[in-house]
Amino acid sequence: MEHVRNLENRDNRARGQQVLAALRVLGIEPVVQERRWPRIRNIIVDFSPNSGAKKLLFSAHYDAAKGSPGANDNASGVAVLLGLCQKLRHLQPPIRLVFFDREEASSRVPRLGLLGSFYYVWKNNLKNIAAVYNLEFCGLGDCLGIWPVRAGQAKLAAVKEVEKAAIRRDIPFQPVDIPWPLLTSDHLPFRVKGVNNSITLSLLPAGQVPMLKKQLAAISIPRLLIGRKPALPQPFSVIHTDKDTSSRLSEDSLRLMLSLLLELIKSSSPSGS
Ligand SMILES: [Zn+2]
Repeated sequence: MEHVRNLENRDNRARGQQVLAALRVLGIEPVVQERRWPRIRNIIVDFSPNSGAKKLLFSAHYDAAKGSPGANDNASGVAVLLGLCQKLRHLQPPIRLVFFDREEASSRVPRLGLLGSFYYVWKNNLKNIAAVYNLEFCGLGDCLGIWPVRAGQAKLAAVKEVEKAAIRRDIPFQPVDIPWPLLTSDHLPFRVKGVNNSITLSLLPAGQVPMLKKQLAAISIPRLLIGRKPALPQPFSVIHTDKDTSSRLSEDSLRLMLSLLLELIKSSSPSGS
């Protein structure tokens, strides 16, 4: 939770500096992928940089929507990735972590977000990526949301693997199809470039799941496209508002997500260890 507090209420540049500082404390020297215009600073950590093995890519955006403290969206995802760094720093698993910049759309160009991740997929070779697990809203709730998963995508290896890990850790889970005009995240550029095994993982309060499913089932895409968005339950009702503060979050949720990722990594490694 300390990582969340270090990021919340800060501007995006300061949030990036906090991520770099936290990595340095762990003895990790990341690669910063930078562009001047539009200004982008992605922060990349490789645990086995020279390995030719297929990698799992874990990501979380560190920027926040303007006017929001950005605690659950998405200092929570960043905190979980930093927790993962602490666990993995002395090992050399075939894993890459990316802290993306500029996921949130600016207020001037409302639909133009995902800049950091689009820049990443444009500049990097994606051939050695086995799957992308992107994190959003990990600070509230105890039910794992896996999204977006349309009917035909339930058999994707990335979805299957994360469901197996959730079962082993006794974590309830719910694949949900969230249409992109309603909400999207940094998994999208990877899918656009053909990495279908790209999903986002979030935590939801279990009590909100039936309501969320009902709302999503009733969504009309044409209405969405003209900006008519339905009122969704928490955590969606709070993100991008001034109420997205760390005081609403729980460290148990952050630890739950971290334990899921560690389980996923354990089962995905060739030796199973
Ligand atoms: Zn977000």
